[in-house]
Amino acid sequence: MKAMVLNRISSVEEKPLALVDLPEPVAQKGEVLVRVSACGVCHTELDEIEGRAAPSRFPMILGHEIIGRVEALGPGAGKFKRGDRVGIAWINWACGGCPFCLRGEENLCDTAKWTGKDVHGGYAEYTAVAEDFAYPIPDEFTDTKAAPLLCAGVIGYRALRLSGMQDGRTLGLYGFGASAHIVIQVAKYKYPNGRVFVFTRPHQKEHQALATALGADWVGATEDTPPAKLDSAIDFTPVGVPVREALRNLQKRGRLAINAIRKTTPIPELDYTEHLWYEKELKSVANVTRRDAEEFLPLAAQIPIVPEIQEFRLEQANQALILLKEGKMHGAGVLRIT
Ligand SMILES: [Zn+2]
Ligand SMILES: [Zn+2]
Repeated sequence: MKAMVLNRISSVEEKPLALVDLPEPVAQKGEVLVRVSACGVCHTELDEIEGRAAPSRFPMILGHEIIGRVEALGPGAGKFKRGDRVGIAWINWACGGCPFCLRGEENLCDTAKWTGKDVHGGYAEYTAVAEDFAYPIPDEFTDTKAAPLLCAGVIGYRALRLSGMQDGRTLGLYGFGASAHIVIQVAKYKYPNGRVFVFTRPHQKEHQALATALGADWVGATEDTPPAKLDSAIDFTPVGVPVREALRNLQKRGRLAINAIRKTTPIPELDYTEHLWYEKELKSVANVTRRDAEEFLPLAAQIPIVPEIQEFRLEQANQALILLKEGKMHGAGVLRIT
């Protein structure tokens, strides 16, 4: 099979993914072999390539927003049948027995495995996964439109929940890429009387236009002050400054959820009175659970979410990653594979 593999930590500008021919994986006990049709391009890949969240071994096939069809069943697998369309997300395996798993927090599992980081992912024609970590995909979505739902959508949904947003309140979104453009659609659906304020870098005119088109009540730059204090905020950016800015704009008792696996620049010094006092809360969002995916995918179809995507061929994965790093991806990048 064709695959784009990462052989070592590198900078994204060096176009580090190499097209290679590998043997197809074989579905082991309880697994399904999936013929990949589309795989989303996520910001986490930049962190993996550049070593901030390095893969556990090399070479590694990245990619954790996978859509494909079941090609073969491993011994004991029976949840799906051949030809079924499935999705695979960031959580690839969790132990089921640690204190976190036992209380439904498998996103924090001590020994969890992550797709495209510990186990080969979707930048390839085939991948294998435990059937319990694959999800049926609603018919409403084409393969390429469904791909970004698996991470940008699922983790965005988790971040929105953790932000404590409620109807009638205000929500600030810092950064408007793959995840935020889905979250605004969920927020507008679940909280019709809420207001959503979107913050981007000043030059990101396309991101601002998309936010307006998707119903943002106000759009401004990262360091702007919105028309009302924020009851909830989500920071989707890879940098530190928006953390301080979001805390500054929070309402009393407001909460900021940070939806990022790593930050590439430090969080600026915080002033206790200005940024934290009045019972403001700060919470990071780490990984996803299967339950997040199982709740979000049917909701995405019901809304229905309209993902804005930019398509690439598998061989163009390096170019897609460079565009993403430069903040020039419009909506979500997706590799069309087979
Ligand atoms: Zn992701
Ligand atoms: Zn566990």
